[in-house]
Amino acid sequence: MEKPVLSLIIPTYNERENLPILVKRIHEVLRDYCSYEIIVVDDNSPDETWKVAEELSVYYPVKVVKREGKLGLSSAVIEGFKHASGEFLGVMDADLQHPPEILPNLIEEAKNGKDIVVASRYAKGGKIENWGFKRKVVSKGARFLTKVLVPQARGIKDPLSGYFIIRRDVVEGVELNPVGYKILLEILVKGNYENVSEVPFTFGTRGMGKSKLNLGEYANFLRHLYRLSETVGEVMKLVRYMVISVLALFVNMFFFFILTNYSSLNYIYSSILSLEAMILFSFALSEIWVLKGEQVKRPTNAVLRALKYNAFCFGGILINIGVLCLFTNVFDVYYFVSNFFGSIGAVIWNYAMNIWLTWKTK
Ligand code: UDP
Ligand code: MG
Repeated sequence: MEKPVLSLIIPTYNERENLPILVKRIHEVLRDYCSYEIIVVDDNSPDETWKVAEELSVYYPVKVVKREGKLGLSSAVIEGFKHASGEFLGVMDADLQHPPEILPNLIEEAKNGKDIVVASRYAKGGKIENWGFKRKVVSKGARFLTKVLVPQARGIKDPLSGYFIIRRDVVEGVELNPVGYKILLEILVKGNYENVSEVPFTFGTRGMGKSKLNLGEYANFLRHLYRLSETVGEVMKLVRYMVISVLALFVNMFFFFILTNYSSLNYIYSSILSLEAMILFSFALSEIWVLKGEQVKRPTNAVLRALKYNAFCFGGILINIGVLCLFTNVFDVYYFVSNFFGSIGAVIWNYAMNIWLTWKTK
């Protein structure tokens, strides 16, 4: 058989009702558009999804890779890549949350030279249907943390999407880590690519069956994130920033002590001046110790950077106070503990905003 344009990897675990509907929809969309193959990677689903896939392979270009047991989503995708012969490799969920109708748009982008094309829930025009408040907060929080810790994710609205297309040489010869759910993030860090584009879509409601996302997967995600961040040397930057923030607190206390004891200033003014001393101290030390030499690549002048830094730190102070009030008044947390979480929130906010905007490389 001639090599297809697209190899579409679909990992499945207990998706027997959804798969036939999905395969039919994919065929409708692609049959007049381009040659394709579907590679179903099934982890020996108890509901025998693999059997359904084998039946489908009589009528559609479906290959079935049946594995021993539940080895996880990312490892299934990597396994699928090994069996794929297409010019482009695609990945999508089996549960109908990823509409195949946008496949031509994704392929078009890839044909136009984009190395990685992400079907994006968070790009302009994208949407998520029927998610509760908690799932939304978790998703946004995970995305924020990802951008804080992994620079390759920063320019991308939805680096944790599970629906995407890549040119095959993006991952050819690349050692990918098979742990976790977020294979796109792994590819963004380790793949060979130059440009990424995003196509908005609406992340729909699951067809039949249940989500396989559980608490263990959240822990896996954090571990994965930590490992990736360590690989690219970003974890230590954040740690250094946290050390600086603790030192800055002492600077604040020192100034406050001096001003209230040895000047005639009112304590409110003393406090404001001490806060400002703290901010300037952490700015100067960060430029030297967090960025180490990196700031030579950053064009704006130092005064402008210091002003921006100041502005973001005021945001940090507001976040600290916000978390303090929320935790203490709404969740009944002891105010000292609330303040501790508030300060951590503020430090991460300050770090993220300044790394992205004050110390932006381009
Ligand atoms: N899946 C899989 N192996 C796993 C977990 C999930 O093959 O260990 C498949 C699942 O069948 C579905 C896709 O990965 O096709 C996405 O999983 P799910 O819908 O449970 O995740 P969610 O959409 O809730 O994040
Ligand atoms: Mg799903």
